[in-house]
This record gives sequence, C-alpha cells and structure tokens, in this order.
Amino acid sequence: RVAKISFKTAKEAFLASNPAARRTLGATRKAQNKFVSPMIGAQEKQEAPETFTTGDERLKHIDPKMIELIESEIIDKGTPIMWDDIAGLQLAKSVIQEAVVWPLLRPDIFTGLRRPPKGILLFGPPGTGKTLIGKCVAAQCHATFFSISASSLTSKWIGDGEKMVRALFAVATCHQPAVIFIDEIDSLLSARSDSEHEATRRIKTEFLVQFDGAATGEEDRLLIIGATNRPQELDEAARRRLVKRLYIPLPEADARKQIISNLLRNETNDLTEQQIEHIAQLTEGYSGADMRSLCSEAAMGPVRSVPLSQIVSIQRDKVRPVCAQDFINALQRVRPSVSQDDLGQYVKWNQTYGQGF
Ligand code: ADP
Repeated sequence: RVAKISFKTAKEAFLASNPAARRTLGATRKAQNKFVSPMIGAQEKQEAPETFTTGDERLKHIDPKMIELIESEIIDKGTPIMWDDIAGLQLAKSVIQEAVVWPLLRPDIFTGLRRPPKGILLFGPPGTGKTLIGKCVAAQCHATFFSISASSLTSKWIGDGEKMVRALFAVATCHQPAVIFIDEIDSLLSARSDSEHEATRRIKTEFLVQFDGAATGEEDRLLIIGATNRPQELDEAARRRLVKRLYIPLPEADARKQIISNLLRNETNDLTEQQIEHIAQLTEGYSGADMRSLCSEAAMGPVRSVPLSQIVSIQRDKVRPVCAQDFINALQRVRPSVSQDDLGQYVKWNQTYGQGF
C-alpha cells in the first residue's frame, strides 16, 4: 500500500513536470506497437522500460514480479500477421472474422444476441496455422496478444501456475482489447480428472473461475483462443466455454502452393509457376509447418553444392539459385508429420463438436 502511494505520487510529480508524457503513461501498448518510454532520453540510454500497469487499481493484489513476467514473456510483440500470410483456411478465416474480429472492433454493434463468444477453440493437426490465426486476430483487432502454452502453467511456472492464471487475466483486462492465446489447452482442460495432480486440478479450477469472471461488462473486449492437437481430450466444461470450435485442417494443394511461393519470395530461385504447382501436388498430407521444413531443406541445396573448400570465401551472389531438383531431393528427407489415423480422429471430432464444415 505504502509503495503504491509513493509510486502514484512519483507518477503525478513526473507528469506535472513533463506534461507531454501523459500520452504514453498508462496508455495501452498494443502487440505491434513499439514501447515508447515516457522517460526523457531513456530510449537512447537503453534503460529497462518501466511498465505503468503496476499502478493500475485492478492489479493491486497481483504480485508485481508476475506482472513484469507477463509483460516481458507472455505478451507477444512479434511482427503483426495479416490474413494473407495464412494460406488457405478460407472458411475458418471468414467465420473468425465475423464471430470475433468484427465484434472486437465494433463492440457497440455486437451486443445482445450478437454478443461474441468469450472463447473459441482452434483444433487440428500440429503446424496448420492455429497460432498464426491467433496472432492475426490480435493484429487485426489492434489487440494485445498474450500467448502461453498451457503445459508451461503446470511445468515452467511450477507451484505458481494458479497465481499466473490470475495474473494473466488481470493484466489482460488492463490491456484491452486483448487476445489470450492458450496453446495445448487440452493439458489444462482435459477430462482425465481422476489421476490428475492436485496442483493441476487447482490451476484448472482457477482458469475456469477466471474465464467465467472475465469480460462480463458490455464494454469488455477480451477474447480467449484455445488451441489443441488433441480435442478429444477436452472435457465438457471446456467445450461449453469454447463455444465456437473450428477445425483447422491440413492445407489443400492451393494453400501449399501459396506457402511455397510466399517462402520463396525472399530466396533467389528459378522455379517456374508450373514447378511450384507440381511440388504442391507432390506434398499431399504435409502440414504448413512441414511445408516450411521442406522449403528450408530445399534452400540448403545450393549451399550443399558449393565445394567445401569455397564455402567460407564464396561470394553470396555466386551461390546458385534454388531449383526444382532441390525440392525433389528435399521431399526424400522431409516427410509429412501427421498420420492418416490422426486425421480421421479430427474429422470425427469435428462432426460431433465442430462448427460443421
Ligand atoms: P499450430 O497450428 O501448431 O499453431 P503454427 O501456426 O505455429 O501451427 O504454424 C507453424 C508454422 O508453419 C508457421 O509459422 C508457418 O511458417 C507455417 N504454417 C502453418 N500453417 C500455415 C498456413 N496456413 N499458412 C502459412 N504458413 C503456415
């Protein structure tokens, strides 16, 4: 309490002598915004930025160290993702746009029956763009993006998982509009309660309490996105809360082609449109992440063809362009990571609990 009073006084004194700083002090910083220090000259001196959310009333019961941790490790400040960066998934993208992006942008229109779901679930094989979608939603809504893996709550923050959940929701509430992305949500909200560890059970209970208590006001703009590769492990409580459940499948040939083209954009290459199309046909069953690995492997081809004695001295522009044969070779090394068996399970779960597409 004492610390808080002195902090407030210091903040007020600072504001009185630096009125220009009012613009940045306590203002919500979005995922894609660069931190602008209110301290004159701090940028040049590379001082550790002071976060002013610590002065927020809503955070008074939260451990300042946790707030700091969330602001430094969990808020994602990476480059903003655009819809076009995500290949394929047209249907999922349009459902998400209507169900959550517009409501976050226009909460005044999306009230009553149009009120958006508080939570959505993205499920499907690993590496199909679930995280990309979460980042994209945040960027499109100019929202702060909080990204945490549910398994880290039970392992990395061991003993503190419960507090972490509470702190996460409190900080997100202060940073609205906000998107909380929880990867591997199955490990938090799984149905296997009998053999569950006591600590895990407490984290789960805290999560449900926080979820239900969050964003209850008309003005609140908080979205929780859960992602999982194992939707069948989610229990009824999780399904009930994550109202919209979208299947994020493996990319179709067109999407695979777009992924290759996008990734090759910054590489010297001599692939024709037809060759890219052909590679897209040959990669049935590859996930987006597999496609990325394939392209990285192919991009190594030109480097491997440089004689060992020249690798240190060769000029960059003397390294030959990536060609179709590099991809043919790479196809031998990079195999699809998702089995047909797994795919069948997703389709089945989608038919029972998904949005029906
Ligand atoms: P996950 O579904 O496991 O969350 P990610 O979104 O983290 O998968 O995707 C991992 C990587 O795979 C991305 O960084 C991107 O390079 C690539 N990727 C996956 N899906 C797509 C997609 N639909 N379009 C473009 N790139 C994709």
